[in-house]
Amino acid sequence: MLTLVRAAAAAGGEVGISRVELARASGLTAQAISKIVQRLLDNGLLAEAGRGPSTGGKPRTLLTLVPDARWAVGVQLGRDALTVLRADLTGRAVADRRVPIDLAGWGPGRVLDLLAGEVSWLLGEVARERVLGVGIASPGPLDQRTGVLHQVTGAPSWDGLSLRDEAARRLGLPTLIEKDSTAGVLSALGSPNRAFVHLDRGLGAGLVLGGAVQRGARTNAGEFGHQTLDPDGPRCGCGNTGCVEALWAAASGPREAAVVLGEAIANLVRLLDLDEIVLGGREVLAAPETYLAEIRKVLTERLPDPTWQPVTVCVAPSGPNAVALGAAGLVLARLFG
Ligand SMILES: [Zn+2]
Repeated sequence: MLTLVRAAAAAGGEVGISRVELARASGLTAQAISKIVQRLLDNGLLAEAGRGPSTGGKPRTLLTLVPDARWAVGVQLGRDALTVLRADLTGRAVADRRVPIDLAGWGPGRVLDLLAGEVSWLLGEVARERVLGVGIASPGPLDQRTGVLHQVTGAPSWDGLSLRDEAARRLGLPTLIEKDSTAGVLSALGSPNRAFVHLDRGLGAGLVLGGAVQRGARTNAGEFGHQTLDPDGPRCGCGNTGCVEALWAAASGPREAAVVLGEAIANLVRLLDLDEIVLGGREVLAAPETYLAEIRKVLTERLPDPTWQPVTVCVAPSGPNAVALGAAGLVLARLFG
């Protein structure tokens, strides 16, 4: 029900949605809708927002989401920075902060203590019962279901850590974890067939296909940076040679790096028939115009019929907050279903 109200708000137009429209969209009876809506009004999640135009009968009362009725916390645990933000029910960040860390050097204890302090600052006077939970996006590999990290490249002290449970214990709030690139794809609504390509210290991709997030058999899908483009290429940190990530790192400048990324994205588009690529991560944000121009150019050259297969390439609208916002989106998704 909340999802329908949220979708109505996202679609613009009128300020809300009526009970009649909710019944039509959900297939539920008017009586059932009335009961559900009353409960959501009592909980403060919905509000009545005036009357819409009459369609013959009595004027319809419009319902809207109350954005600050509940909050979600989003965290990006990066290799050298920790980002925390607080998002409202519409998925908008209302406060954020970024602090430097050394993920590998400091180890879990110090980083998670700092995280607890930052979240406490972020929530300030907010009543904890109005906080739905905390979503933490982390470099992988990790198991999203069990909340355990697995051999994070270059950070051995985090291997086997139950990140979700350790963080939940310190935060005292329901906690979820997600791979950083997968979280990024949840940072904004978009095409049902899209990828979020995250270019930071590493290279990953989060996928939405047929409208659903794709995590794979071990919830570890999206190791986009380690597809081999040139078996004779430079050695990669993962131990193989000629990975996209290694070729990108060996590029002579942003233009050449963007072309390498474009080649890899063209492979992804052809394999999965995507129609939207969202770019994020520090490297992209440092030279967005170069990345956009070169990737669009490579796609036009590589796709057999670019006019029939148009692909939108854009930079994540939430910029450096995309991954943390997606992590908060994970928490909101539990409410909205
Ligand atoms: Zn590799």
